[in-house]
Amino acid sequence: MPQNFDADVAVIGYGPTGVVGALTLAQQGASVLALERDRDIYPRARAVTVNDWTMRIFQGLGIGARVEKVIDPQRALRWVTYDGDEVMRIEHPPSTLGSGPRFYNIYQPTMESELRACAQDRSELISVRYGAEVTEIEQDDSGVTLTTTDTATGEVTRYRTRYAVAADGGSSATRQRLGIPLLGDTGETTWVVIDCRSSAGGPTATSSPSGRTRNARSSTSPCRPATTAGRSRSSLTRPRPTSRPPPRCGRC
Ligand SMILES: Cc1cc2nc3c(=O)[nH]c(=O)nc-3n(C[C@H](O)[C@H](O)[C@H](O)COP(=O)(O)OP(=O)(O)OC[C@H]3O[C@@H](n4cnc5c(N)ncnc54)[C@H](O)[C@@H]3O)c2cc1C
Repeated sequence: MPQNFDADVAVIGYGPTGVVGALTLAQQGASVLALERDRDIYPRARAVTVNDWTMRIFQGLGIGARVEKVIDPQRALRWVTYDGDEVMRIEHPPSTLGSGPRFYNIYQPTMESELRACAQDRSELISVRYGAEVTEIEQDDSGVTLTTTDTATGEVTRYRTRYAVAADGGSSATRQRLGIPLLGDTGETTWVVIDCRSSAGGPTATSSPSGRTRNARSSTSPCRPATTAGRSRSSLTRPRPTSRPPPRCGRC
């Protein structure tokens, strides 16, 4: 087996987990080759909240201040009508990890973009191949051989690293190849999540210091959307056939 390693560690998948994994390895002096199937960051909102533990990880990597510039502290959950009346408010308890907030509002593509920019600043140790889908992995006593297929051209490339980290998401093909089951339960409730750009005229709330967050999140009614970083989210439970429709506010 050839011993010319392309890097110490291959990171399969370059979403938030892969980027944080790459930064963590680089912090320890390991060279990283990240292999990412997609050419661009996944463009949908997905996560709208991270907590203080996540921020602690960013701080430990020395990127906390940079990430904090693109996310917003979330002090409370507020339910607000279109007329601006607050109908319910849940204050978050203080963080147990220091003086910062317990939660942050995020727009995942923006946060991921900043994380990748932070990793690019470690380019002496971290290199990334985009459009490189890992299609085969073989491990032996001294390392790992990874085969990628270019998603645009179909070109096949092989890489050799000492180790590989699977960060290829919830439906990880690597996990399945290794026969590792997906642990955890799936709730019975089906949620419908609608993300939009917010426009003037929607509910407003006390702005965050950055002014990006116009409203706290979370609602079970479409007339009380959540807004994160200029976006709006409505999370609705899909009613069971026997349950009554949710109450309407008269304006939607
Ligand atoms: C509607 C919604 C709301 C959510 N809300 C929250 C929230 O409020 N807070 C929160 O913490 N989380 C939330 N999440 C979950 C959060 O978005 C995910 O946990 C997070 O994206 C996981 O990051 P990841 O890097 O592990 O995986 P992913 O973001 O899925 O990244 C995996 C990467 O691996 C790549 N990949 C896959 N297979 C291969 C392969 N064979 N070769 C190369 N690359 C590959 C993919 O292209 C992808 O870029 C939400 C998710 C959804 C859908």
